[in-house]
Amino acid sequence: MEVIRITVRGTNCYVLRAQGGSLLIDPGPPGGEARIVDFLNRRGITGQEIRLILVTHAHLDHYGAASNVQSWSGAPIGCHPESVSLSQDARQAIPPAQTLRGSLVRWISLLLAPLRPHPPLRADVILPPGTELGSYGVDGRLVAVPGHSPDSLALISAEGDAFVGDLIINYSVPSQPLYQWNRDAWQQSRRLLASIQPRTVYVGHGEPFPGQQMDRILPARYQLGWWIR
Ligand SMILES: [Zn+2]
Repeated sequence: MEVIRITVRGTNCYVLRAQGGSLLIDPGPPGGEARIVDFLNRRGITGQEIRLILVTHAHLDHYGAASNVQSWSGAPIGCHPESVSLSQDARQAIPPAQTLRGSLVRWISLLLAPLRPHPPLRADVILPPGTELGSYGVDGRLVAVPGHSPDSLALISAEGDAFVGDLIINYSVPSQPLYQWNRDAWQQSRRLLASIQPRTVYVGHGEPFPGQQMDRILPARYQLGWWIR
């Protein structure tokens, strides 16, 4: 299986290209579709090849371009059972932050939320944790990894790679996400992912990293640029 990463304004979109078809994970922020479509077209990947558009969790920077990517591809949009309703609640848009600077960003965003359009997620298929994705052409399954958000899903491929959304970020070192809905749930999800012993961990923000590094996930403040507590 080939893994293609397209970064759109800081969010990673992945295309998993397998014999049976391709799966697109996290179409990215609103307006990002042009970059994704252009990138894939140049690599000879057609919209028809995409069998599923998977949203790892209902944050706008991950699903904002979903409808427009779907217009190009025609593939169904799939998500966790709670994602659609969570996307309709602006207060869920940014979970509580782990640093002072993150908290400031969050409060300013919440204050400005009524002024900004927040298109909700629209989904065609509901994909509960445990769903096997073979019918979409890619050998893998979905695992619940709540913590950053209640509805976080990870895709574990048959080859042992993990696509984890915002469970972990890796701008400089693999670390906790700056924003967390529930820290205890996050710890459980981290332990679950470590127990799976993934080969490579593909994150929603930053660089993929080897699964061996799962044993040492640092607090969010260790990210370069986010060190102010
Ligand atoms: Zn998120």
